[in-house]
This record gives sequence, C-alpha cells and structure tokens, in this order.
Amino acid sequence: MPDTTIAVAGSGLAGLTAALATARLGFDVVVLAPNQTRQDKRTTAMLAGSVDFLRQLGVWDEVEPMASALSTMRIIDATNRLIRAPQVDFRSSEIDLPAFGYNIANSAMTDALRKACIGTGRVSFINASAIGATFHPDHVTIACDNGEELDVSFAIGADGRNSVFRQSAAIDVREWTYPQTAIVCDFEHTLDHHDTSTEFHTPTGPFTVVPLGKLRSSLVWVEKPEFAERICATPLETLNRMVEDRMQSLLGKVKITSPVQTWPLSGMTARRFGKSRLALAGEAAHVVPPIGAQGFNLGIRDIELLVELMEKSNGAFSALGETFHRRRSADIAMRTASIDLFNRSLLSDFIPVQLVRSLGLYTMGAVSPLRRLIMREGVTPGLAFQHATRRLRQAMPGTQPERNAAR
Ligand SMILES: Cc1cc2nc3c(=O)[nH]c(=O)nc-3n(C[C@H](O)[C@H](O)[C@H](O)COP(=O)(O)OP(=O)(O)OC[C@H]3O[C@@H](n4cnc5c(N)ncnc54)[C@H](O)[C@@H]3O)c2cc1C
Repeated sequence: MPDTTIAVAGSGLAGLTAALATARLGFDVVVLAPNQTRQDKRTTAMLAGSVDFLRQLGVWDEVEPMASALSTMRIIDATNRLIRAPQVDFRSSEIDLPAFGYNIANSAMTDALRKACIGTGRVSFINASAIGATFHPDHVTIACDNGEELDVSFAIGADGRNSVFRQSAAIDVREWTYPQTAIVCDFEHTLDHHDTSTEFHTPTGPFTVVPLGKLRSSLVWVEKPEFAERICATPLETLNRMVEDRMQSLLGKVKITSPVQTWPLSGMTARRFGKSRLALAGEAAHVVPPIGAQGFNLGIRDIELLVELMEKSNGAFSALGETFHRRRSADIAMRTASIDLFNRSLLSDFIPVQLVRSLGLYTMGAVSPLRRLIMREGVTPGLAFQHATRRLRQAMPGTQPERNAAR
C-alpha cells in the first residue's frame, strides 16, 4: 500500500511547480532532490498563460513584486547579411493584454515556489537523489541514494535532462547539440527599457535583452562556444562596452551586476512523455534552446495537463501516464520543431533559407491579423488557432454555426 501518494523527482522550476499543483489538488507529495551544486543565475520570461496558472496556484502574488512586465517584444535583424529582415515589434496592447508576460530571476521564483509548497502542509522534501523507480500495477517504488525506499501512487519525473525516473521507465530520448553556448548575466543601464524585450538576431544566435526591474535587464547572449569561453575571461569594463555595442547603445551605458554564467545549448525530446504511473515534466521531457521564452513555459503546460488529468482520474492512476503522453505530444513536437528551425535558420549561410526567414519576419510585421494570431498563439498556445479556424469556418458560405461556439 503506498505510504505517500505522489513522488516528484527534482526541485527545479518544474519539480516545485508540479509539487505545488498536485498538493493543491489535495494529494500528499514528497519531493526528492539533492542540494544544488550551482546557483542558477538565469531569469525566466513567463508568458501570460503560465502567469495565469501560477496565479491559480496562489503563488503569483509572492512573485509579482520581483517580476518585470514585457509589453513589447522587438526583433532586430543584426546579421549584417545581404538579405535582412525589417525590425518587427509585437505589442501586447494589440491583443488587449497589459503584457505578454513577466521576467523573473529563477532564484526568486524557486524560493517563492518552495515557500508555497511548504505552506500547503502537504509537501515534504527529502534531500537525496532518486536512483531508480520500479513501476508495479498498483504503485511505484522509488529508491533513493540515502537508502530510503518509498511506495507511491504516482511518480512525476522533473529531474532534468538526465532524468532517472525516465531511464527507470526505459523511455528513450532523441538528443542533438548546437554549436552554441548561452552567456547569461544581469546588468544596469542608463536608459529606460519601456517594458520592451529586444531580440537581436545575429549569425551566431539571438542576443536577447529582457527587462528585470527599473533600469535593469537580463541578457541571454548566444555565441560560438569558444567565443563564450573568451567572454567569461574578459575584464568587466571591456565586457560592459561589448554588451553596449552589441545593443547599439539602445539602453545607454551598461554595467554588469551579476556573475557571468554560460549554458551550452542542446536539444532533447523524450520518445514518450508518460507511461503507466509516470509523467515527465520540464527538461526531463524536453530541452529546447532559449529562443522565444519557450522552455519552462512548455514545462508549465506539462503540469497544467497533468493536474487536469489527475483531477478527473478519481485516483485511478494506472494508465494516466499513457493519456498524458498522448495529450502532450503535439504541442511539444510543434514547439520543439519550430524553435529548432528558427535557430538553425539564423545559423544558416544558405541564401534561400535567409530569404525565407526574412520574408517570414517581414510578413509578420506587415500583416496585422497574422501578427495578432501569432501573438495570441505565443501567449496561450492552441487557443489562437482554434479561434482562427472557427472564424474561418463561420465566414465560409453555407457553413453551419458551431454548436459549442460560445464555449
Ligand atoms: C540561458 C537560458 C535561458 C532560458 N530562458 C528561459 C525563459 O526566458 N523562459 C522559459 O520559459 N524558459 C527559459 N529557459 C528554459 C528554463 O530555464 C528551463 O526549462 C527550466 O529551468 C528547466 O527546469 P526543470 O525544473 O525542468 O529542470 P532543472 O532546472 O534542470 O531541474 C532538475 C532538478 O532535478 C534534480 N535532479 C537531478 N537528478 C536527480 C535525481 N536523480 N533525483 C532527484 N532529483 C534530481 C536537480 O537537482 C534539479 O533540482 C532558459 C534556458 C536557458 C539555458
């Protein structure tokens, strides 16, 4: 008989969100994770759909004072190539939203989630790594590296890209690498960012500046790995100037205020996202390059679906993993493929590829309905295309109005 209902492996953003969400459903949850060896200096741009979910979980009020609104997303082609795209500005006001989302330091978000988990009185933490999970017809047995063994009703693998839960369930992965490393830091600047996140597209990858407070922003600068190594050894004064130059002095003078970290870029998709009494969430299921703020936002959608299925299951968890896999596959495949394509189109020297990318950006900038569709789809995936298809159908002569159109 299981002595705890749900086990979550991992206490990163995905693990803590999954623990909080399942505890809010009324389950007892145990989170297994070792102490972090590296402080995460990244920030995460949370899109509006994710913010709504965090609000439902009752953690957003804690996070909001530390978060910065993203009301405009600007793309600037800084490739200096023969064929270049025009600048494109996406404004949240065009789709009647105050902001597309909010940027927040991962450390602040993790602290708030952990506090909220403890506040539920249903989440306990074990400072250990999972070393294996055995899936039985009516429960899962988890083995920890401190010698403890737990029997639980359901397991959530949020233990990152080398997930032990995933390996224990014999789920294979598809992995690939990019010749790119992300350089990450925070900086102060002298000019207002006007709640605008700016993505400069360069031939080595995006150089993205995201608001993080008044006259403060975070940077994700994607470069060739050897260049990224050199950047880390560059004196701060020189680096301040380099960042300012790359930004074409858009935010005035720059002063880096955090340690500079590097994150090698790669991609990974699990062949299955769930199986029997297991669901994978976050980077245990999918890893994408940091483009268009998709990584953790995709993880949030894993957890949203998982709690929806759990709520409907009446405790019948034996095939929940299969349903989860079926329902998550399309979204993950579509996002992973589009981010991969976009990243590779930046790196490509092949003129037709550059032409298609530039044309795509031009069309987005010039055609307002398309731009609005893409913005809505970015913020609440799935909904925008459903709306558009419904409106198209309604506009076609002889089409019957949909019975559930108001829903
Ligand atoms: C430079 C950069 C910028 C990014 N910016 C954004 C952004 O703006 N927006 C966005 O949505 N996403 C962004 N992402 C992606 C986002 O950071 C990740 O999706 C997210 O941090 C992944 O969280 P996770 O909890 O799934 O994995 P992790 O953070 O890797 O957490 C895994 C957890 O599992 C634990 N663990 C490992 N092994 C075991 C084990 N055997 N047993 C138990 N626990 C274990 C670890 O200790 C850790 O706690 C960015 C990524 C990068 C690289």
